[in-house]
Amino acid sequence: MFALMEEIGLEALHMAVDPVTGLKAIIAVHSTRLGPALGGCRYLSYPDQASALRDAALLARGMSYKAAMAGLPFGGGTAVVLRPGHVESRAALFEALGRMIDGLNGQYITATDSGTSSADMDCIAQHTLHVTSTSSGGDPSPHTAVGIFAGIRATAFARLGSENLEGLRIAVQGLGKVGYALAEQLHEAGAELLVSDLDERRLHQAVEELGAHPVASEALLATPCDILAPCGLGGILNRRSVAQLRCAAIAGAANNQLVSLEVADQLENRGILYAPDYVINSGGLIQVALQHHNGNAAVITPHVPRIGLRLTEVFGHAQAEKRSPARIADRLAERLLYDTRT
Ligand code: NAD
Repeated sequence: MFALMEEIGLEALHMAVDPVTGLKAIIAVHSTRLGPALGGCRYLSYPDQASALRDAALLARGMSYKAAMAGLPFGGGTAVVLRPGHVESRAALFEALGRMIDGLNGQYITATDSGTSSADMDCIAQHTLHVTSTSSGGDPSPHTAVGIFAGIRATAFARLGSENLEGLRIAVQGLGKVGYALAEQLHEAGAELLVSDLDERRLHQAVEELGAHPVASEALLATPCDILAPCGLGGILNRRSVAQLRCAAIAGAANNQLVSLEVADQLENRGILYAPDYVINSGGLIQVALQHHNGNAAVITPHVPRIGLRLTEVFGHAQAEKRSPARIADRLAERLLYDTRT
């Protein structure tokens, strides 16, 4: 466990079990240097505890980098709740998580992520103030989708010479809270949509409402397109999958899309422009962070489209140095996080 903490650079790792509700939770805190650790709560089943720990640690680091690059006064953290086969009361489980979070005295502030909803955050909020994206605060996913859309336009400009998405073939993997809202915007902008989801109903809805072309999940990455937007789970870009890609650029919501930085180099060598995930998907974090600082919608709205400008800056450095945008973004984020002169 300490080896993992050292490898990822975690500040703290908290674990809790509650036999009454069945809660088994991990809270990874990557950094509190710029402010309290803010980041989503996952409720998923994992093949084993080691993969849950790793997921929490990597996501927490991504949150620190994301907040730093978005200019937010927050650090990064993540909660992972292991989804049991059977749960007596989901509400009681998340209330128990609320007590755990409250015990950390503001070191970690939670939000929705894969598998959790505003209703779960409401349960957490019964026991702690260190929670965002409750029903009254609203789901951050639409803001994430707006940011991804702005980022896709910036990516199209950098790689294809125009930010006009009309007629571009854009492949969206995962039509969940972010993916579907993104697909709606892309449809409105005139893009041709190729979509995949493990859930047949979501796929059917995109075909019916957006005229999207359904593609089997395992085939989507190898389908020719202009831009691939990964909006399912992370870890999809590895040596083997990148060799199969037939797109000009990748710009999507999923956290931790790359299994390693070497894969980013492989993308660069193949001429595929990669929009670093934690830069392009920060819209939701911006929303919850500003809301936590009592920002209203009028304050939040202009911040999110600025993601396109930030990406353009990263692409500019990457082009000048002939390096992957992923490496450039890491360098910029680490400077903000660790350089005492900043
Ligand atoms: P979600 O759980 O609502 O949706 C994910 C969707 O992806 C589901 O419909 C699922 O069936 C599908 N999916 C999973 N694996 C797939 C695969 N291999 N092929 C095709 N479809 C697949 O989650 P979300 O909130 O939309 O988030 C999507 C991704 O974006 C996650 O990685 C999340 O961590 C990241 N993210 C989300 C937010 C946010 O505001 N919700 C913010 C930043 C990053």
